Amino acid sequence: MLILTCPYCGITADETELAPGGEAHLKRHGPGSGDDEFHSYLFTRENPRGVHFERWRHAYGCGKWFHAARDTMTLEVFGTYKAQTTEPPKEVRAAITARHPGWSWRDFS
Ligand SMILES: [Zn+2]
Repeated sequence: MLILTCPYCGITADETELAPGGEAHLKRHGPGSGDDEFHSYLFTRENPRGVHFERWRHAYGCGKWFHAARDTMTLEVFGTYKAQTTEPPKEVRAAITARHPGWSWRDFS
């Protein structure tokens, strides 16, 4: 079972108290963007076997959205952090690199 700690209220909750929100850190394209960019924003998602960044909502708790970094194979959680951040915090990236040397994703390498 997936267990995450809400970065807002500090409660450690299992997935029955949480609601998934899909991939985190999607790049949104505004007015003037092309059809391909908008199509990519709407439909293209990563589906990695390994490190993944996701959005979760503490649905049966404080109700706030947050991000989680976890391994999709092992369910190991590298950390959770507030949804207002544009990239994973340094400590989360360090935890991932410690388990997956040479890991990189997008521009977070
Ligand atoms: Zn919470």
